[in-house]
Amino acid sequence: MLNFIGIGSAFNTELGNTSAFVKNNNNLLLIDCGGTVFHRLQELDLFEGLENLYIIITHTHPDHVGSLGEVIFYAYYILKRRPTIFFAKKELIEGFLTSIGVSAEMYKLNSFERIDMNDTQLGEYSIEFLPVSHVDTIPAYGFIIKLDGKVFYYSGDANDISNKVINRIMSGEIYRVYQDTCGLDYEGNNHLSLRKLCSIVPLQFRNKFYCIHLDKYRTEKEIRH
Ligand SMILES: [Zn+2]
Ligand SMILES: [Zn+2]
Repeated sequence: MLNFIGIGSAFNTELGNTSAFVKNNNNLLLIDCGGTVFHRLQELDLFEGLENLYIIITHTHPDHVGSLGEVIFYAYYILKRRPTIFFAKKELIEGFLTSIGVSAEMYKLNSFERIDMNDTQLGEYSIEFLPVSHVDTIPAYGFIIKLDGKVFYYSGDANDISNKVINRIMSGEIYRVYQDTCGLDYEGNNHLSLRKLCSIVPLQFRNKFYCIHLDKYRTEKEIRH
């Protein structure tokens, strides 16, 4: 089960940038690291006793990597740990980190599209990155993660859900879906409108969906309807 640090869209600072984590004893798996995330990690004391830190990055928009540099610096200089970054496009993330002064010895990078990990506290987990449709300027990924024997789909920022994922939801393989959604509905939208989500997902599977990356155009109550 994922815990959320924030569930807002880029400009919805009240809800914080969308980011989630799993912490087991001293080891932390973090999903995305937008501009508001470092501050929240401090507030929530999530660096307390930290040994292993893994960070999954879905794409390089600022609301997903804005404080990644600070988190790596903090881990490296203060905690004396090198976080492991999971991102499928090696050169892109290396170039980004280099440009903000984060050098290669401060982190480990795993850019395979399928990853199997075995962590002393988090146990065995696997990540499968899936390209998603978001913007034309940079690549974006969702992923399927198997953790604690359960399978989750996390969309990242996406304006669609692939048929492959829908089939895996309908077959029962995927236990829960965390999907980027937005209240606004217009042609060329970079996020998935609630109208489109409802047209893609049959009614009996909607209870598997958790809406994330919320904008200010719908309240949580409206989304539930
Ligand atoms: Zn975003
Ligand atoms: Zn984005």
